[in-house]
Amino acid sequence: MVPAIARPQLDLELRGIRKRYGNFTAVDGVSLKVKKGQFVCLLGPSGCGKTTSLRCIAGLEEPDDGDILIGGKEVTRDPPWERDIAMMFQDFALFPHMTVAKNVAFGLEMLKKPKAVIVERVQQVLKSFEIDALANRKPGSLSGGQRQRVALARAMITEPRILLLDEPIGALDYSLRETVMLELKMLQQRTGISFIWVTHDQNEAFSLGDLVVVMNHAKIEQQGPPEEILQRPATAFVASFVQGNNVFRGKVLRAADSLLEVETPAGSFLVPGAGLALGSDVSFSVRAENLTDITGDHHLNRLTARCTAVEYFGSVRRHIFERSDGELLKYDQFGAHAARIAAGQVATLGWRPEDTVLHTGIAG
Ligand code: ATP
Repeated sequence: MVPAIARPQLDLELRGIRKRYGNFTAVDGVSLKVKKGQFVCLLGPSGCGKTTSLRCIAGLEEPDDGDILIGGKEVTRDPPWERDIAMMFQDFALFPHMTVAKNVAFGLEMLKKPKAVIVERVQQVLKSFEIDALANRKPGSLSGGQRQRVALARAMITEPRILLLDEPIGALDYSLRETVMLELKMLQQRTGISFIWVTHDQNEAFSLGDLVVVMNHAKIEQQGPPEEILQRPATAFVASFVQGNNVFRGKVLRAADSLLEVETPAGSFLVPGAGLALGSDVSFSVRAENLTDITGDHHLNRLTARCTAVEYFGSVRRHIFERSDGELLKYDQFGAHAARIAAGQVATLGWRPEDTVLHTGIAG
């Protein structure tokens, strides 16, 4: 007999989820696999379908097509309380008339747990979230950071398999966000609960996510670890959504030795790639830090343009150039170098073909 191969169970699987509102498609064939204890960030511009996807997972919306599996069990038509999930909203949705302790106890009370169990567990959770001193206060008298902890404690008390978070730190002061992000990441790692975190902020997604899922117009454009999304954007949309990329569009002019020569309105450039017919429409990108104004023989791609602005951020000096096709070109110089290019100056920038990324993905 062939021994059974143990397959690691997925915490969540979406298979071709589609959700329409009248004629409008808010989520269009979204498929996703979330491994046990993964931190997943759904990232994308406003209106791309992140929240609707999350609401389908939560059971607050029923998809028109597709299947949702949680912990290997099909739950597509199950109500929220029969799914092994909890949800935390941007406004925290705390009950204003209840004390902190009552708010935190709510999930266990809904599950009709014995009173003694609830009292003990609430105490434990209040302590571990360091909000025990606030137990008898009402949400209205708490700071944003404290309300956030209470909301998190309330969501996590039932120990769900998955915590769904919709822009959970969007309402916090900028100065608090970094601390809260670090705390949440540590909490997620400690508990092993999978987090599905919706955000339009790429810094949040890249610093927190094990898996970043970039959405646009109701579809997934690319999913992968943060480094992959940053270094190898699969589509022109992902490249332009991620800070620091210069995106070019053009047609394949020549192809040889795994290099394509692509003609764009800003000039012709060499891009690694093969197997494309001459004349094919392509797009590619190069990161702003991979450009140089001290060009050598290996910087086969060159572009001469006028610098319109120089911004100095301490660790990086960003130069903005105007390309001949009217688009902007960004050139970042890292480190404490003396300024070499001033606004108004015309300069030639170069980069190596191997620092150029051909976009090979199709949104789906
Ligand atoms: P944001 O970051 O602004 O919250 P999002 O990516 O989360 O955006 P969704 O809230 O999922 O986007 O909305 C996706 C699209 O579906 C939007 O165009 C929105 O207007 C539309 N939509 C969402 N809910 C409904 C609804 N109940 N009825 C009609 N259209 C809806």
